[in-house]
Amino acid sequence: MYHLPVLKNRRTLLERAEKFISDIYFTDCNLRGRLYGESHPLETISFFLSQTRIPFAEASKQNFAPYKIGDTFGPTWWTCWFKVSLTIPESWRGKEVHLLWESDGEGMVWRNGQPVQGLTKEGEKTSYILSDCLNDEEPHSVTLYVEVACNGLFGAGQGSMIAAPDPKRMFSVQKAELVIFNRDVQKLLTEFEMLVDIVQELGEGEQRGYQALFTANEMVNLCDPFDPSSFSKAHSLAHKFFNQRNGDSQHTVHAMGHCHIDSAWLWPYEETIRKCGRSWVTVVSLMEKNPKFVFTCSQAQQFEWVKSWYPGLFSKIQDYVNKGQFIPVGGTWVEMDGNLPSGESMVRQFLEGQRFFNQEFGIYCKEFWLPDTFGYSAQLPQIMQGCGISNFLTQKLSWNLVNTFPHNTFFWEGLDGSKVLTHFPPGNSYEMKGKIEDLVKTVKNNKDKGRANHSAALFGFGDGGGGPTQLMLDRLGLVRDTDGLPKVQMSSPSNLFSQLQADSGLLCTWTGELFLELHNGTYTTQAQIKRENRQCETLLHDVEAASSLALCRSNTFLYPAEKLQRLWRLLLLNQFHDVIPGSCIGMVVEDALDYYKDIRNDGGVLLREALEALEPKGSSPGVFNSLPWERCEVVQIADGPDTLVRAPSVGVAPVKETQPATPVSVTPQVFATDISTVNLDHNFTLESHLLAHLITTADAFREAISDGSSGNQFVIFDDVPLYWDAWDVMDYHLQTRKPIVEVVQPVQVAFPGGVRGSVSFTLRISDKSTVTQEIIMDAMCPYVKFNTKVKWAESHKFLKVEFPVRVRSPNATYEIQFGHLQRPTHWNTSWDWARFEVWGHKWADLSEHNFGVALLNDSKYGYSIHKNAMTLSLLRAPKAPDATADMGNHQFTYAIMPHSGSFQDASVIQCAYSLNYPLRPIQCRPDSAPWSAFSLSPSAVVLETIKRAEDGNGNLVVRLYESHGSSVTATLRSDLPVKEGWHCDLLERRDPTRPARITSEGISLNFEPFQIVTLLLCF
Ligand SMILES: [Zn+2]
Repeated sequence: MYHLPVLKNRRTLLERAEKFISDIYFTDCNLRGRLYGESHPLETISFFLSQTRIPFAEASKQNFAPYKIGDTFGPTWWTCWFKVSLTIPESWRGKEVHLLWESDGEGMVWRNGQPVQGLTKEGEKTSYILSDCLNDEEPHSVTLYVEVACNGLFGAGQGSMIAAPDPKRMFSVQKAELVIFNRDVQKLLTEFEMLVDIVQELGEGEQRGYQALFTANEMVNLCDPFDPSSFSKAHSLAHKFFNQRNGDSQHTVHAMGHCHIDSAWLWPYEETIRKCGRSWVTVVSLMEKNPKFVFTCSQAQQFEWVKSWYPGLFSKIQDYVNKGQFIPVGGTWVEMDGNLPSGESMVRQFLEGQRFFNQEFGIYCKEFWLPDTFGYSAQLPQIMQGCGISNFLTQKLSWNLVNTFPHNTFFWEGLDGSKVLTHFPPGNSYEMKGKIEDLVKTVKNNKDKGRANHSAALFGFGDGGGGPTQLMLDRLGLVRDTDGLPKVQMSSPSNLFSQLQADSGLLCTWTGELFLELHNGTYTTQAQIKRENRQCETLLHDVEAASSLALCRSNTFLYPAEKLQRLWRLLLLNQFHDVIPGSCIGMVVEDALDYYKDIRNDGGVLLREALEALEPKGSSPGVFNSLPWERCEVVQIADGPDTLVRAPSVGVAPVKETQPATPVSVTPQVFATDISTVNLDHNFTLESHLLAHLITTADAFREAISDGSSGNQFVIFDDVPLYWDAWDVMDYHLQTRKPIVEVVQPVQVAFPGGVRGSVSFTLRISDKSTVTQEIIMDAMCPYVKFNTKVKWAESHKFLKVEFPVRVRSPNATYEIQFGHLQRPTHWNTSWDWARFEVWGHKWADLSEHNFGVALLNDSKYGYSIHKNAMTLSLLRAPKAPDATADMGNHQFTYAIMPHSGSFQDASVIQCAYSLNYPLRPIQCRPDSAPWSAFSLSPSAVVLETIKRAEDGNGNLVVRLYESHGSSVTATLRSDLPVKEGWHCDLLERRDPTRPARITSEGISLNFEPFQIVTLLLCF
């Protein structure tokens, strides 16, 4: 029988229990004050400072100087190594002994040359357990090293988390001593804490909350903090409460340990390697004590880092992977951005990731794992399915600023109709702490109550916080099956998803992209990274295509598989969800640009070697076309004049000057600044720098620019978000639109005509920034190009260019990975206007029946098409987390392409490819004949990728996709001696039931809208 409370007063009972475990109040007499017993000083502590991150072997050989607790060290990004000698008193026999270490920065304990424990105050990790129960055989005198990185969990932001780092921050150790840790006190504290939380979380409406209250109160009555023999009575009361069981219908929470580690963000890549080491060594030591503890871990790149930097830890991880406790998830190289990487890049994220997991652990991941990424392409379901993955976990859409996403568990249907079972953990976090609040939220927020009876709860500190703690495991262990709370089981993604799948009859389906209504500035921020990404994607595409053809044409050519893998992995790494979006500190931008330089330099060499192997050497200029259609384009050969050149589809040809049917002519008008230009398909008229008229003449005369408006109008906006500076552009920025009107250098004719006509001019954006542009019209080219250079030194401004066009349509079309999708041009509903700034790849199009205008680009991703105004986002100027983001010189090209008919029939897709994939110069014999390795028809199908198969036996892989949104039968013709072909998945696993149908015409292939087809070609 409990003591009868003195008064019927919920508050006094609750606060009494709270104070009994408070770490602030009454610690002289409460239970919390008894957590630690005696303490004992260290024998010696000495230190050594290093500006760089060095390995243990090197650090341990340095001269260490004496250190006094409280002394400062640093500055930011340095590393302080401590050498600690300690002797545990004999009298502590039978006790649990900890090294208590409270310091700034992130620490790693090394013992006998091996990492053993991460230490981070912010991640509630301040203890290294020297002994669970000290006995005489154990070493009492120990030497340890503690490696302290001079940065916090979230870097070193000056004043706020996302501010640019403070380079001068200093650090200190506040406490380093031996202590006796009272495990029985800790257990009781956890029980108290959980009961108090139940009282608070269930509130006054639930009888279970009152039962918890009276239990906690009686436990205080029974427990004397100074008499451990009294603990057992209190403990049995708690035990009785927690073991009152649930009914069968209760929701099940699948708890999984996790530690979300950003591969680079507010700290550089190199620090992430140590964050992984510190976190995972902590996880492994928790597993040694908790055989049921399950930890999910994504990003093959991070495993690869740990493998090469901490091989001992990696082999322990391999053991725990085999035991099913340490679970690699996601299947990708990094947790990449879900919008900006190209289709092929997305495939490579999975290819590199899944192959790595298979090589190292003998597994393929069954779920895609992307909890923290800023939106998800509608083509992802098909790519996942093609990589052996049918489940998807994220939660980021809970960050939507405008609309609440209506599902937590649902089928996500992609562009081609592929479906994946998708789960958003309803707690809306991937860093839970195993607390009652987390469990209650998981049930309360669940928008699929009654449809899905299982949810995930990911617990553990991320980003160097070292993941889960013993306390979190203890909390979850207490409430496995407690009446009034959901059931909790330690689980794995495959267990969760198979439960969800087994009972999926009532689940809803969401079709199309998962658009995040936030962070829409990330399509534009850090323009240099975006441009490098696009150009490096293009370069690696061309290297692979040229190397594949060289492999077939030359007996001596060696396909540079390893080198290409290295370059791809660098490119994929920079697609991490805080790097390619531009939401990282300046140091990361520098690293990323270095990696791109590597890709350019080494990729450039590989391309040259492949092209040299492809054609017998000669002294005449030629071109290589990596795209699967014939091209006729103006190129500059060496430093010579511009020449109109024909190049066969995926092939090479010597340069033979072609005369255009209609040369371009440039005519200054009555007013000196007005210029009119004409080619075969169009003419345009400039009034000053503005595009007053753009008239297609191909089929019928048709004006593309809206009446009374002008195209190519630069506009600038104030761009001050609510908080996430580099990330966000807010709706209200649209109210601050200012056209750029001041001319510095009026329009002048640069090329008077022939194969190319062009004019150039310069405008002033502000007293610090200018834009210089060359407007180019090439013979035979259906679009007008705008080669643009911007000197940019703004603060919180957003530069865009507008084309108001004479087209009316409720929807605009945007290119995405392996296809395109439509988004509304109106703002009817909140779901429509929340998409005031959207992403697209190489082109966007606004068409009505039989006529439209496409806006192409060579390195931009931000678009908005509202009513009839087509806008391309060009540059932003955020100041956090990189204070100098986007400052300096920029160069980019966009193009406007009016067309009759549909954009599909007008070859907008092909033109956008051609704008991005330049014809590559080669040297060939003057008499060499044009040669085409592949061609295909109809034009709806694009041959996207030609590469050597990963299996390494000389087979080629070709990847094609249907780009129009149509069902077609296509024929792929090849000049290569293809003996047989097989359908395979995106991981290049051959489907033995599906040989390719080879006819006298070529390989015949059936496509459904936006379908991706991968073939293995054998010779
Ligand atoms: Zn993240």
